[in-house]
Amino acid sequence: MSPAAIIALNQTSANLGRRIQAILPNATLYGLTDRTTTVDITFENFGDTLRELFAQGTPIIGICAAGILIRTLAPALTNKWQEPPVIAIAEDGSAVVPLLGGLQGVNDLARQIAAGFEVQAAITTTGDIRFRTALLSPPSGYVLANPEDAKTFIADLLAGKSVQLQGHAPWITASQLPLQDSATHTLQVSERIGEPSPTCLVYHPKTLAIGLASSSVSGDRIQMLLTEAGLATQSLAGLFVLQSEAGQPEIQAIAQHFQIPIRFFKATDLESPESTAALLALTAAGPEGRLLIDQTDWAIAVADTPIEVEQIGRAPGKLVIIGTGPGGPNWISPEVKAALQKTTDWVGYKTYLDLAEPWRTQQNRHESDNREELDRARAALDLAATGRSVAVISSGDPGIFAMAAAVFEVIDRDNNPNWSIIEIQVCPGISAMQAAAAQVGAPLGHDFCAISLSDLLKPWTVIEQRIAAAAQADFAIAFYNPISKQRRWQLEKAKDVLLQHRSPQTPVVLARNLGRSGQTVTVTTLKDLEPESADMRTVILIGSSQTRVIQRSNSQPWVYTPRHYD
Ligand code: SAH
Repeated sequence: MSPAAIIALNQTSANLGRRIQAILPNATLYGLTDRTTTVDITFENFGDTLRELFAQGTPIIGICAAGILIRTLAPALTNKWQEPPVIAIAEDGSAVVPLLGGLQGVNDLARQIAAGFEVQAAITTTGDIRFRTALLSPPSGYVLANPEDAKTFIADLLAGKSVQLQGHAPWITASQLPLQDSATHTLQVSERIGEPSPTCLVYHPKTLAIGLASSSVSGDRIQMLLTEAGLATQSLAGLFVLQSEAGQPEIQAIAQHFQIPIRFFKATDLESPESTAALLALTAAGPEGRLLIDQTDWAIAVADTPIEVEQIGRAPGKLVIIGTGPGGPNWISPEVKAALQKTTDWVGYKTYLDLAEPWRTQQNRHESDNREELDRARAALDLAATGRSVAVISSGDPGIFAMAAAVFEVIDRDNNPNWSIIEIQVCPGISAMQAAAAQVGAPLGHDFCAISLSDLLKPWTVIEQRIAAAAQADFAIAFYNPISKQRRWQLEKAKDVLLQHRSPQTPVVLARNLGRSGQTVTVTTLKDLEPESADMRTVILIGSSQTRVIQRSNSQPWVYTPRHYD
């Protein structure tokens, strides 16, 4: 289960939230802006925040009336198999009410919190009350192979049938299920495929470890031999590989085929330095491990109890390249917010880290100079290669004049084998030109291009040529990096080039500090564009020959570029 979000609407609830964090140390405390202090994350809109967390599958603990949670989440209730746990808690901690997420362990979570407050959780699930376990949502480490049979099965038990256990699972033995040796109904716990039916629920424990010594095998081949051996793929816990083999692309393909995590061993982690597949699988399966399949290149070992993959070997490390939008919480995507929270380390220019600061819980900040982009990318990759989960933070969109290209550039240039195991993800953001355009209407409504006026990374002659070409081609143009302390004359020169091809009356938008304090958006003309009114936090939009300014009564002027040419 992913870490929970505790939601507080006032300071009394926030104080209780801190007590819940003592019970669930990984949970994050969210508090309503202006009503709470000293929370981890503040929010302005209760409904949007709640529905966003729910959609991401985050367990929600609302310190508020059950009715508020029900009404807020009602439109989002579409799939009971996917909904995360939702619990309502009274602000004095006297009532803990599991509402949703019965299949994701909500009752256990509610019991855990209630035990901390020395009250009874208000469990209403009949099967759970009688049997003290939820057959439909087994604890982590076990997968129910035939959930479609569970409803009938549980109804039979509630009607008085008893059940026999084949195999071993402490959570079943510790329950109050009516266990009896020769019962009609069976709970089978096994890594074998089994015979699921309405009278037999089959649970696959995650006890199988694949050891991979060379990547000359495919997922399909492993799947075939598993099936031949009668082993269930749901029992696969992880793929265990020697660190020195990390660069091989087949490793990812096999992990994806079975949807299992990859973990790395160093040669020194193994009892013998020979990196045989059998040794890798057996090391992962622990002291009681037994070898089931040994194909030299790859092997499968079975452990006695579910393998806790996170505790074994080393994770591949992750690099998430994100853009937080130009500024302001409304322009950050839910995917970016989730990535900010899931990572362990943030790397970026100080201003960008500060923009993301409201979403920081325990993440380490690694600030760097804005101009050291390649070094920053290398440092982030080195950190991820140690198994950390690293966010590289840009403003706007990370792929537009920002860090994503820098990261791929160093990967391409350095060809560092230590980086080959890192999983990379890029999350888009709203770019400054989009935010600027939205403030004034639709100036980028037809063909447009973006040009950075910074000549730090390309010669001015190239920039000038591009401006001329874009002007001749009648693109609307977004100018990024228009001016800085070191670069004073470029914008004036750009204006001169534009005026050779475009009317002096061409609409121009200067948007400064978008989404941040001191935001200004000015509509002017090319003739009146004053370079000194721009700075490095300004993006400038130049209209095409078709761009028009319209004045509606009682409002600012709107700028748009029609979608067609007359
Ligand atoms: N990746 C960013 C661009 C980074 S380059 C994006 O997609 O927006 C930096 C330039 O972006 C600045 O010089 C400025 O031209 C523009 N910019 C970034 N944030 C801005 C903001 N909040 N308001 C106006 N312009 C901004």
